[in-house]
Amino acid sequence: MKTIRREIPNQFRLPRRISRLGELAYNLWWVWNPDSQILFSFIDKNLWEGVSHNPVAFLQQVERPYLNAVTNDRWYLELYDKVMQRYDDYLRGANTWYSEKYPKLKHKSIAYFSFEFGLHESIPVYAGGLGVLSGDHLKEASDLGLPLVGVGFIYNQGYFAQHITEDGWQETRNLILNFDQMPVIPLTDEDHQPLTIQVDLPDRAVTARLWLIQVGRVPLYLLDTNVDSNSPADRQLTARLYSNDPEVRISQEILLGIGGVRALRLLGYQPDVWHMNEGHSAFLTLERLREMIQQGKTFEQAAAEIRKGNVFTTHTPVPAGNDQFPLWLVDKYFVQVWDQLGLTRDQFIDLARHTQSWGDNFSMPVLALHLSNQANAVSELHGQVSRAMWQFLWPERKEADVPITHITNGVHTGTWLARRMGLLFQQYLGRDWRERADDLDFWSQVEAIPDAQLWAVREHLKRKLIMFANERARKAWHEGGSHPVQVVAGGVLLEPYSLTIGFARRFATYKRGNLILRDFDRLMRIINNTRMPVQIIFAGKAHPADEPGKLIIQQVYRAVKNAKTAGRLVFLEDYDMNVARYLVQGVDVWLNTPRRPNEASGTSGMKAALNGALNFSVLDGWWHEAYNGMNGWSIGDETEYSDPNLQDDAEARELYDTLENEIVPLYYSRRSSDKLPGDWMVRVKESIRTLAPQFSMKRMVKEYMDELYLSAMGVKKAPNAAED
Ligand SMILES: *Cc1c(COP(=O)(O)O)cnc(C)c1O
Repeated sequence: MKTIRREIPNQFRLPRRISRLGELAYNLWWVWNPDSQILFSFIDKNLWEGVSHNPVAFLQQVERPYLNAVTNDRWYLELYDKVMQRYDDYLRGANTWYSEKYPKLKHKSIAYFSFEFGLHESIPVYAGGLGVLSGDHLKEASDLGLPLVGVGFIYNQGYFAQHITEDGWQETRNLILNFDQMPVIPLTDEDHQPLTIQVDLPDRAVTARLWLIQVGRVPLYLLDTNVDSNSPADRQLTARLYSNDPEVRISQEILLGIGGVRALRLLGYQPDVWHMNEGHSAFLTLERLREMIQQGKTFEQAAAEIRKGNVFTTHTPVPAGNDQFPLWLVDKYFVQVWDQLGLTRDQFIDLARHTQSWGDNFSMPVLALHLSNQANAVSELHGQVSRAMWQFLWPERKEADVPITHITNGVHTGTWLARRMGLLFQQYLGRDWRERADDLDFWSQVEAIPDAQLWAVREHLKRKLIMFANERARKAWHEGGSHPVQVVAGGVLLEPYSLTIGFARRFATYKRGNLILRDFDRLMRIINNTRMPVQIIFAGKAHPADEPGKLIIQQVYRAVKNAKTAGRLVFLEDYDMNVARYLVQGVDVWLNTPRRPNEASGTSGMKAALNGALNFSVLDGWWHEAYNGMNGWSIGDETEYSDPNLQDDAEARELYDTLENEIVPLYYSRRSSDKLPGDWMVRVKESIRTLAPQFSMKRMVKEYMDELYLSAMGVKKAPNAAED
């Protein structure tokens, strides 16, 4: 095998005493270890904010006197030594959950494919929930010691930055990412040339070079077609996420699936488990079939063999949302492939055929389901919906027996938890609370946190959120080009003592970002009650091609600008992981209003719960199984509606009723003894106690391991062996 160099660009001239900051910058371990971020921010707080918390850009730009100053600061140096010690211990990974539970499976490996990875705002190559879930999955796999590697794309134009015009129209600003200024490591060969793989597309071969992002102990390999030998059009193939051009899309998916397998082979991996996170990577099955058939297996033997190791996770509860291609496109791109697999065209199409009212399509989830022995949905409710939706693939089975199980999503505790909240947990739950983030009994100790301390942290986090909004509005105003009303819309009239609701998500129509505006006058009466005021902060992007989604943003933005709101409705532009962190940590209530059953899971509410915000949501996705009557609120019951208009009317009414009669009064009621909102705190603790462990990424990744990966490794689960 060729020599592969994965050399951290040695570009910083750092004082010797703190020279390892350069190494730390290139391992995303710092993302979920807030103390390690202090090692950067403490040096120059302004610059740290200015480079959007990107330590590589930070170290490139920081001025020498600031660096010299900390080398004389005892407090700083002590922290530096402590953090580096923890970092080294972590990387050594002597005793992990995996190594202790599965000592015999040390040499196995798991490949995890996803179209997007959301790891941190400084690497903006994710669009939303799917990417953040993938990023959190890698971080937790690292924490648990799973032998996992990620495969995806690094999009050199990222996802777009959002700007809202005065009239509320979403404008997209394209980014040009500079990988040299990001925690991204180039892979090169022995001659220091970029390491590349190739895939065949019609009439040409396309080359992709490989990059590495180190996520704790887990490597993430990323493909990038922006290389000289490609045509200008091919260089753009991996420029952006979720193109609407079907030819770009199928080319990207060929690159991810087929190119991804080739990249792993080049890097020397022989994965036992192949996890397709959503259907985008399902072409990997074709490459694995081809490999085996080339070694002399028949198609049937090869298919039986690869099924064993394949794991497929579906995230899409509506048929139209699923990734599929028209057959003419499949003919164009795969005409060579069915021969290689020993199939006729029809047999090839049958691997993924999805017959719909408008004709036959080549469906990526169908391909994945046909060729995976392990398949799952992402919440209990989504499991039911998925079994019904894909039952036609198993006509001989009853719906309940369709082999799609569910593993409910979770969130990576360290990534989403506010540092101050973590300190409280450390003090009252114990130093090992991070290792026990998924231990339900352990979390009952939340009751021991004094209300006054918990409330003080909550108020601190809300102030931080409001200052963040203020600062952004100030900056936009100062930079020019905005109308004064946009400064108000950006949150300058927010104040830190009002009940604050967050609504932040992709503006897809089913998420109904405008449901709360349905009876505007009633909403105004609720929020402008001067003794019990309410503020609502909106944020979120619409896909650039989603006109109805952009219209909803416009409707929201126009409402926000209305003087009747008295500045209590706010829209924060450019939702990303940074904005998300401020919001989920700072608001009191997290609102979610999807049209059932369109929300496969949802994860932002889990992030909010962890930080002591209360969920107020339709009983869809994760909330359907999480809500217990005391850990937040529901909107509506499980009523099915045939008329969406009636449904919106009814659910908006229920939303206002609960808000007005329960949530607002509860928040403002004060105990006479200590002037704290005692009944509110009871709910907050109930929410943290029940939701933080159950919807942790730790619980989730352990379930993937114990239920799906183990089976994909061909290991039979011993009775109770998977219970800890
Ligand atoms: C968590 C997160 C999401 C996913 O949120 P949903 O609850 O699925 O809507 C989307 N975008 C960002 C930036 C996030 O952090």
